[in-house]
Amino acid sequence: MGKRLRFFSGVVLLACCAGMLIGLLLGQLYIAKTGRQQLRHYTHALLVRGMAVAEEQRYILEAVQSLSTPLCSDADLNQLRFLLVRAVYIADIGRVLNGKSICSAARGAIDVSSQLPPPDTRITADRIMQGQTLVVTDPLAFSYFYKSSQGYSGLLAARNLQSIYQSFGYSDAIRANHGRREHPWWATAHFEYECDDRSDICAYSQLQVPSIFQAPPAILAGLLFISMAIGGSACAALLLAIEKYRSLNRQLFKAVKRKQIEVHYQPLMCLRRGKFTAVEALARWKNRRGEYVSPEIFIKMAEDMGIIGLITRQITRQALRDMYCFMQADSEFYVSINVSVSDLLSAAYHDFLDNEIRKLNLDPRQVMLEITERSTSEHGGLAKAIGTLRNKGFKIALDDFGTGYSNLDYLSSLTVDAIKIDKIFTNAIGTDSINAKMVDLLFDLIQFLQLAIIVEGIETAGQAEYVAAHCPDAIGQGWYYSYPLRVDELAEKMPHIRPACCRI
Ligand code: C2E
Ligand code: MG
Ligand code: MG
Repeated sequence: MGKRLRFFSGVVLLACCAGMLIGLLLGQLYIAKTGRQQLRHYTHALLVRGMAVAEEQRYILEAVQSLSTPLCSDADLNQLRFLLVRAVYIADIGRVLNGKSICSAARGAIDVSSQLPPPDTRITADRIMQGQTLVVTDPLAFSYFYKSSQGYSGLLAARNLQSIYQSFGYSDAIRANHGRREHPWWATAHFEYECDDRSDICAYSQLQVPSIFQAPPAILAGLLFISMAIGGSACAALLLAIEKYRSLNRQLFKAVKRKQIEVHYQPLMCLRRGKFTAVEALARWKNRRGEYVSPEIFIKMAEDMGIIGLITRQITRQALRDMYCFMQADSEFYVSINVSVSDLLSAAYHDFLDNEIRKLNLDPRQVMLEITERSTSEHGGLAKAIGTLRNKGFKIALDDFGTGYSNLDYLSSLTVDAIKIDKIFTNAIGTDSINAKMVDLLFDLIQFLQLAIIVEGIETAGQAEYVAAHCPDAIGQGWYYSYPLRVDELAEKMPHIRPACCRI
């Protein structure tokens, strides 16, 4: 096994383990989160039920005490039964004499009366006695809250826990953790409480949550497998992407070193004359598999790798040679070359350009340089570099105007010859968008500044007509007129310019 493959497998294995750990962690977080929600729900429901029971007990006690019927008479028992039938949480209502139960709504007169515990005025106990009245709470009133098998424990008590009205499950831990509301994700016991401020009654609760390792084996195995697979495949995908990028980097580097970057030319249409009068040189590169890679990708890559200067020189040299005959044949014809800001700021590139122009005996006015970099830069140095080039006769255009950093800020600080309106505006022609409205504004602004306008991305007859009608002095560029072409295809597109010489 190669060293690289071993490293790759090792990293993926590590990612699988990390994926499993993260899966377990997320699983535990999920258990804690759902436990917390369920415990809140349980606590709230317990308090609400406790308050409802207390309210009903209070109502019945008051109603029975207001009765004037003789104790345990038929009329008295009828009244008690009437109240019992309407009660929801009460099992029985009885009469008490000298601490002994003598009759009740459910059992009628009691022959052998039982001795009752001492009078108790607490309202949510199982049985409440007040004066000559006894109210027995239905055991089913709180049955829902006996869920100790599911890990729940609860207490219905006074805020200070002095009086306990109802308790469910193992309440010792609740007493020990009185007043705690805790749900750390790693803990196995969660605590919660909720109080009613008017009555000072609180519901305290605890939930014993299982750890992720106590989950059913099938679920645990599934979780481990899925998280391992996600971790491993995400890592493998990332490594492959990095590998691909690095490989593309290496391929580009080799192609630049071997001067394999090609140049295609897109003709630019002078709308007033209805003829192609210039071309834009566009870099083209085929990867190892012979597929063209978009310049949007490899130009950015070259900028990051610091080899954009080499590409600019290759394109410049090639374009001047390829276009030499057209430039000789028509003194109005020019070639437009994309340069990055770093090229413009480089004295070496200036010397290179001067040299090439001198060697071929070309007129610098037939060369336009398009600024393409989409990042902020020091405008002072750029303005100076542009001034130097313009003084020598080169034309300067602001490319992709209206996007990124090619905007009004550039326009206000740099003196240029032409503006290339980005294709996002051209695409908007004929639509209701803001960009469509911007097109006219840009035409007015650029004409006011007396700069040449090149409209990029004209794809339809409608767009071409619109530009011709609203800005007849513009230069049009786009697939509607011509796609970028190889140099040998150009002469056919531009028959009005007859190169008299052969290629250099
Ligand atoms: P750009 O300078 O704005 O070039 C115009 C782009 O628009 C070209 O894309 C061209 O093929 C495309 N285009 C032309 N007509 C149409 C049309 O009607 N519709 C649409 N949708 N697109 C159209 P390409 O060749 O892919 O180049 C993309 C960008 O890469 C260029 O945009 C430029 O910023 C950069 N680039 C290309 N060659 C070079 C180069 O030699 N040096 C530098 N620094 N950048 C370059
Ligand atoms: Mg351009
Ligand atoms: Mg552009």
